[in-house]
Amino acid sequence: MTPDLDPSTVVVHAGRPERVPDAPLGGSPVFSSTYLAGGQRGYGRFDNDAWAALEQTLGALEGGRGLTFASGMAAVAALLDLVPVGGRVVAPQHAYSGVLGLLDQQASTGRVQLQRVDIADTEAVTAAVAGADLLWIESPTNPAMEVADLPALCAAGRAAGTTVVVDNTFATPLLQRPLAVGADVVMHSATKFIAGHSDVVLGAIVTADDKLWTALETKRRSLGAIPGPMEAWLALRGLRTLALRLDRAQANAAFLAERLLEHPRVSRVRYPGLPDDPGHVRAKQQMSGFGAILAIELGGDADRAQRVCESTKLWVHATSVGGVESMLERRRRWPAEVPTIPADLIRLSVGIEHPNDLWTDLAQALES
Ligand SMILES: *Cc1c(COP(=O)(O)O)cnc(C)c1O
Repeated sequence: MTPDLDPSTVVVHAGRPERVPDAPLGGSPVFSSTYLAGGQRGYGRFDNDAWAALEQTLGALEGGRGLTFASGMAAVAALLDLVPVGGRVVAPQHAYSGVLGLLDQQASTGRVQLQRVDIADTEAVTAAVAGADLLWIESPTNPAMEVADLPALCAAGRAAGTTVVVDNTFATPLLQRPLAVGADVVMHSATKFIAGHSDVVLGAIVTADDKLWTALETKRRSLGAIPGPMEAWLALRGLRTLALRLDRAQANAAFLAERLLEHPRVSRVRYPGLPDDPGHVRAKQQMSGFGAILAIELGGDADRAQRVCESTKLWVHATSVGGVESMLERRRRWPAEVPTIPADLIRLSVGIEHPNDLWTDLAQALES
């Protein structure tokens, strides 16, 4: 494809079959556990057309080569498996609880040494990264919504010879391209905005480093953490409309953030799009939009926060983010959530419904 296309065009056209007479517009999922001998594919655990189409599209968007996995966590596990035994990993204090949980497990057995840092504190991360094997970045963080200085942290990682991974799940490649500012690998829970319809669990990585790509592809084969063809096909079908979905969801999130800020029951709104948010200036520099996720706190009242989540009629009370339908949950309802996440914090994943309907339902639940 022409290299100077806008990402909102690339997301529609990348990863399609060659334009020859009678070619279909999109590929179909291929259901085959093995392939006839004599070619490159070999076996169903090694390759699949539906993965390849999704990988090409994600690769074109992020600026590297894609690799899909059975879930976001499968991609995380493959990446952590690249760290040498006893190697040192620097990871955020706040990030997706599944990633932090896996790191804690690995640290407890001596598989890795783990150092947790405030990922928004560039000086602290830069100091920690010296001699580390892997720097794990998530930005904005789930669910604290902190924003890391990606160019500075990638430069620090590079200077220290540390592999830098960015979990780009919240921003998506349409709002933030970590490889372009020096990250070695981008990781996605494609379950979220990429697939976008809350019907698929899938993960992906993208890297421009061929050695890393090959190492990760080998891990995928040997760990067997492969996606189903149908899941990959559904994720690509969902991905085609990411630009439109994000436009609407982001506009909705900005609208709701302003209203929530004024609400007497809401003590804090965490959204990088708000001018007073601690991550605003950074997000403005390194993202082309502020995303569709925000978090609110209710003056320390965890019971009320729980009741709010249980009182919505339109908003879906469920975990996960990035679907077309708006979802909310009190994160600390999960025992695995980091204890420094406030007990009254509600994470809101804003969907593509009409903003007035979303606000009416949320306001009603806040009053309940
Ligand atoms: C959901 C999520 C993951 C884990 O992905 P799964 O697809 O659920 O395995 C990782 N990172 C972030 C930021 C997430 O939101």
